[in-house]
Amino acid sequence: MTEHQEVDLAALERALRTEVDGEVRFDAGSRGAYATDGSNYRQVPLGVVVPRTVEAGANAVAVCSRFAAPVLSRGGGTSLGGQCTNEAVVVDWTKYCNRLLSVDPQARTCVVEPGIVLDELNRQLAPHNLMFGPKPSTHSHCALGGMIGNNSCGASAQAYGKTVDNLRRLEVITYEGARFWAGPTSDEEYARIVAEGGARARLYQGLRDVTGRHLAEIRRGYPKIPRRVSGYNLDSLLPENGFDVARALVGSEGTLVTVLHAELELVDVPAAEALLVLGFDDIYAAADAVPQLLEHSRPSQLEAIDGRMAQLMREEHAYLDSLERLPEGDSWLLLQFTADTKEEADEQAYELLRALGRDEDDASVALSDDPAREQEMLKAREAGLGVTARPPDGSETWEGWEDSAVAPERLGDYLRDLERLFGRYGYQQASLYGHFGQGCVHTRIPFRLREGKGIEAFRAFLFDAADLVASYGGSLSGEHGDGQARGELLPRMFGQPLVDAMGEVKALFDPDNRMNPGKVIHPRRVDDSLRLGADWRPVPRETHFAFADDGHDFGRAVLRCVGVGNCRTHQGGVMCPSYRATREEEHSTRGRARLLFEMLGGHDDSPVTGGWRSTAVRDALDLCLACKGCKSDCPVGVDMATYKAEFLAHHYQGRLRPAAHYTMGWLPLWARLARTAPGLANATLHAPGLGRLGKRLAGIDPRRAAPVFAPASFQESWRRAGRPEPDPRDPRTVLLWPDTFTNHFHPHIADAAVRVLEDAGFHVAVPAGPVCCGLTWISIGQLATARRVLTRTTHVLRPWLEAGTPIVGLEPSCTAVFRADAPDLLADDQDIQRLAAQTRTFAEQLVNHTPDGWQPPRTSRAATVQTHCHQHAILGADPDRELMRRAGIDADVLDAGCCGLAGNFGFERGHYDLSQAIAEQGVLPAVRDTAPSAFVLADGFSCRTQIDQAATGRHALHLAEALALAMDGPPPSDLPEMAVPRPQPRPAPARLLAAGVAGGLTGLAAAAVLAARNRARRTP
Ligand SMILES: Cc1cc2nc3c(=O)[nH]c(=O)nc-3n(C[C@H](O)[C@H](O)[C@H](O)COP(=O)(O)OP(=O)(O)OC[C@H]3O[C@@H](n4cnc5c(N)ncnc54)[C@H](O)[C@@H]3O)c2cc1C
Ligand code: SF4
Ligand code: SF4
Repeated sequence: MTEHQEVDLAALERALRTEVDGEVRFDAGSRGAYATDGSNYRQVPLGVVVPRTVEAGANAVAVCSRFAAPVLSRGGGTSLGGQCTNEAVVVDWTKYCNRLLSVDPQARTCVVEPGIVLDELNRQLAPHNLMFGPKPSTHSHCALGGMIGNNSCGASAQAYGKTVDNLRRLEVITYEGARFWAGPTSDEEYARIVAEGGARARLYQGLRDVTGRHLAEIRRGYPKIPRRVSGYNLDSLLPENGFDVARALVGSEGTLVTVLHAELELVDVPAAEALLVLGFDDIYAAADAVPQLLEHSRPSQLEAIDGRMAQLMREEHAYLDSLERLPEGDSWLLLQFTADTKEEADEQAYELLRALGRDEDDASVALSDDPAREQEMLKAREAGLGVTARPPDGSETWEGWEDSAVAPERLGDYLRDLERLFGRYGYQQASLYGHFGQGCVHTRIPFRLREGKGIEAFRAFLFDAADLVASYGGSLSGEHGDGQARGELLPRMFGQPLVDAMGEVKALFDPDNRMNPGKVIHPRRVDDSLRLGADWRPVPRETHFAFADDGHDFGRAVLRCVGVGNCRTHQGGVMCPSYRATREEEHSTRGRARLLFEMLGGHDDSPVTGGWRSTAVRDALDLCLACKGCKSDCPVGVDMATYKAEFLAHHYQGRLRPAAHYTMGWLPLWARLARTAPGLANATLHAPGLGRLGKRLAGIDPRRAAPVFAPASFQESWRRAGRPEPDPRDPRTVLLWPDTFTNHFHPHIADAAVRVLEDAGFHVAVPAGPVCCGLTWISIGQLATARRVLTRTTHVLRPWLEAGTPIVGLEPSCTAVFRADAPDLLADDQDIQRLAAQTRTFAEQLVNHTPDGWQPPRTSRAATVQTHCHQHAILGADPDRELMRRAGIDADVLDAGCCGLAGNFGFERGHYDLSQAIAEQGVLPAVRDTAPSAFVLADGFSCRTQIDQAATGRHALHLAEALALAMDGPPPSDLPEMAVPRPQPRPAPARLLAAGVAGGLTGLAAAAVLAARNRARRTP
């Protein structure tokens, strides 16, 4: 049967909905989000099934089989060879089928479901001091099903081998419904299976038959190197290898069976590690040294980094600490040794150095004795793909020949030949790095995948490279699998007879070619179904933001996402809170980037239609918190918050927006209006019935309490105090930025900041008139308004901008606008560029710019500190840490992700549950665990509000408040925040409430009129 056959999609979808316990999605958004994996390929799936149980997943396969619909299992979707994209029903195992079912510590085995993520598995195994040995770089988000599918491994393969070497049994189901546990099969067991008869017996007999007929080819044709991943593992079926059907199925990339459960073999977690780094003149010399190193030592990892990668890291300001630790040289080998004690691990390194006639003091040798540093350096190596994917010079590099492998003894010569081949095709400057201890080389190549000639060259190069590696007795893939990128090349490595034998195995398991068709065996051409391709024609789009780092091209910005999938991690950093809480591809940074890519309209078969008006894209972006976590945490800096703002600007152009856009989005304006009667505004917003009605009208979730306006804004109090305005040119003058949140809701923070700044010797100025950074308009995509607001603000700030006065921000999100969004939105405005350059955080001003000798007030307290996401992404928190250190604050700076409120996001109707779920993943439990005597510190208004409203019994302070408290002597021993005033709502008489409602409604009506007028102005 051919790969293509009409499937009755409507009937298939109905049957899946009726018969499968799971989420069944055939909508444009889901299909768009799953159209690409981490590879160069793109195929739009028929639909997506997210089974709630393994049984339901097996049912889904059965239903697809009835409809003759192709099936593709999916884990983290990080495959690089195109094996995880297909015109098939995608079964995503990761959301629900992700349990560790049992552990046998004595036997050192465990049983897992296919969707469990490797790091999560190892976290759960940690109490037994056990772990699964193979560890791909994507360990924080790749799933065991995917690892089995690809026969994955990583640096640790030097010690533990590949997935195939660490697997006991698999429970599988075939497309035709045979379900069984497979493993090594003794002759007795084989006889029993055959005697039972049925589909399994036929399969086993068939496998014996194929192996028997191709015995000599199998024994001869599989390279005897550590990193052969290409092809089916027919060698596992050899009698001398125990006719191991489970291991034969490992690495079959979903083309033979669906894996339902796996019994894994586990290893001990190493007690101690040492890292030795050796420098070399170039990467070839490093490769040449490998055999000698292996002769004298048994490292648990032997990794390589070349000078090109180090250079890119420097240019991208990534892993600078690790680079500093590298010894002299242009390229480096990193050897890790493990043992029961640190001394034993170190001794292995010393022993090797002695054997080489080198010692620790050589300039080209570095021996680390700091485990954290060691991990950081190995992480830098692991980050290779991200670092080399989008070099700062704007060029693009691609996978395709990214993991070939040869015997380690021949690596140096192979690399020299490969470099020559690069030269012939004009692919200079490719970084070469990887698992040199096992002869596996990583690289990304500047293929030209948007034009016919470039694609011809890509194809020709792959064939030449395949011949080259085959001439070395190597493997096309040493790690990532074949998929579509290597399927067509397999005969060059194995020869046609062996590939025919693999074809026979395919026919046994999947006679109609419905399991992940077109991959590995009977493959599509290597240059088919490319994500870009010569006929890719995205519609050019005018944008509000400049996208200067992407050649002023929104399409290029969207293309940044290379599919690594770090945005699917479960812990650490900020990216991506909506994925962490939903476990939905569509609500990950990658899913959103994929949908925006589809929206560009470059491919005729895109499920996403309507361009900027696409509701599928709008829905995927709806749960993006615009936290900017991806801007810093994604290895290639995908900046989804900005893409979302840009999208919303066009999506709603000339149309009525959701109510919250006019209420929360225009907050600075309402806050100014509320100044006429703040008490009345508070009473109206907090009166039980009226408040609820008001929230409904305003598009705010009824469970959210409105923030409370302070009786007087900070600017009002400042004006009333009549303080003389300092000279902007005086070097001691700083301008304190009165952001909306501090000014109207928490003015005490600004008062506190003034005290501390003055204590440090600064003269504080405050703008007299209304000013605003435009943040709320940016986050809802009212970008023309945001531009107007920013321009007006720079007019007010002009004297300070011209004098070069530092502008000190207290609210991280507003400060981040000045540093990042504003210069991108008004790229040609010199005042905006000055504003960006002159803006500092409170801590930056006090740590980096105070007169010598100033010490902050000391308060010897512990503190739980929540860093605002925008601070994490744009501003950095090192000066804050230093300021706290100098103040004697023992800070536990949380690595717990976003607070979940993120400006207006958590207030908007429909977002409350997600907002709370995100907060409960880290921030709120940490606040609850904070000792009563300790501070809870959060500089972001959103974070403070989320903590306040979660009834943790604690209220968060701004760092400025904690320091100002310390100036007055020791704060209360318990709940120090009680010493700080916060506005409280007061009830008001009914008559006044009615007036308040009338005023609010009038405001909303005025907003609607204004919006309509703006719309009319824009409509031609
Ligand atoms: C930046 C980067 C670095 C990488 N580094 C490494 C590395 O160090 N080592 C390495 O080996 N790989 C690496 N890879 C490739 C990839 O991450 C790994 O192979 C990973 O283990 C795949 O896991 P996954 O869950 O993402 O699998 P997916 O991509 O989801 O799936 C992989 C294959 O398994 C099949 N599959 C998934 N679940 C099942 C199931 N239940 N039944 C049957 N088949 C199934 C899929 O159909 C597909 O063919 C890297 C990729 C990237 C992007
Ligand atoms: S958004 Fe970033 S982290 Fe996520 S897949 Fe794309 S490149 Fe990777
Ligand atoms: S801005 Fe935040 S929520 Fe949105 S995609 Fe990026 S990390 Fe996820």
